[in-house]
Amino acid sequence: MPKVLIATEKPFAAEAAAKIKAELETAKYEYSFLESYTDVGDFHKAVADAEALIIRSDKVDEAVLNAAPKLKIVVRAGAGYDNVDLKSATAHDVVVMNTPGQNSNAVAELAIGMMIYMARGKFNGKSGTELAGKKLVLYGYGYIARLVARMARGIGMEVYAYDPYIASEVMSKEQVKPLSKVEDIFKTGDFVSLHIPANSETKKSINWDLLSLLPNGAMLINTARKEVVDEESLLKAFGEKKGFRYVSDVAPDNLATINELYADRIYCTPKKMGAQTEEANTNAGIAAAKQIISFFEKGDKTFKVN
Ligand code: NAD
Repeated sequence: MPKVLIATEKPFAAEAAAKIKAELETAKYEYSFLESYTDVGDFHKAVADAEALIIRSDKVDEAVLNAAPKLKIVVRAGAGYDNVDLKSATAHDVVVMNTPGQNSNAVAELAIGMMIYMARGKFNGKSGTELAGKKLVLYGYGYIARLVARMARGIGMEVYAYDPYIASEVMSKEQVKPLSKVEDIFKTGDFVSLHIPANSETKKSINWDLLSLLPNGAMLINTARKEVVDEESLLKAFGEKKGFRYVSDVAPDNLATINELYADRIYCTPKKMGAQTEEANTNAGIAAAKQIISFFEKGDKTFKVN
């Protein structure tokens, strides 16, 4: 029976780990956990006889793949998979999957929560502003963005989206107004929320050319990846755009500089916590185990990303 390694530098919550075990035991798969490792050498050793690997934000690079001659499948329990070297995995004949949708609600709630927190001056006791009646633009219209749209409409926001890979009818059906140009995102939004993946096309793509188009007082919400924002342009936006605010699930590298000058207009979570809920943890872990079983039993490659 296939051997599964669950390698998590940041371990799954106890409930999630128990449910992963239960899935694998029911299927009569062998498994082992490598949790909270600090030496990547331990990961290389543990993966030596694994045929399947479940990871979270753990890096799977050429060295890990070279150390895993029996490996057939890697499942990233989560949505983003920029921590996996897809080219190298393909060259090693290893299937890579993510578990889309399983943590979307957690991330969407964080995006809305951070918007409210910043609109209310970080709960500083002074008068703030409301979200109702304001324009929210979603950059990317995947799993997370759709949930943000639903929540934002519930609050009474006017919701727009830009995603060249999603038919505009899908957005219209969900009472979201489709935009057809990247520039329109930044011209339109009182609030612009980022939901695009980090890849060669999108990294540093949110630059001054785009940020300069934002109306005064706009808020940029980033629960995607810090890499999609060009940090020099971000700093410039604070200086040149009156009332510009930024909330992010991962701090930019120039946070200290921004904080020195504009601390009241930036908020970043202390570490990435969009998907850090018991529910998301459990859902993604169970999905990863089920996808591995389905792959070996039925050749199912539904969530393959390479
Ligand atoms: P998803 O794959 O469902 O959605 C991504 C959407 O972006 C897709 O609809 C795709 O068509 C669109 N897209 C891709 N390139 C684009 C481009 N150049 N311009 C416009 N749209 C583009 O993913 P998701 O589950 O909604 O997650 C979105 C992103 O959020 C992930 O890629 C990940 O980086 C991030 N994420 C963060 C956390 C967190 O903990 N903060 C958790 C999960 C996901």
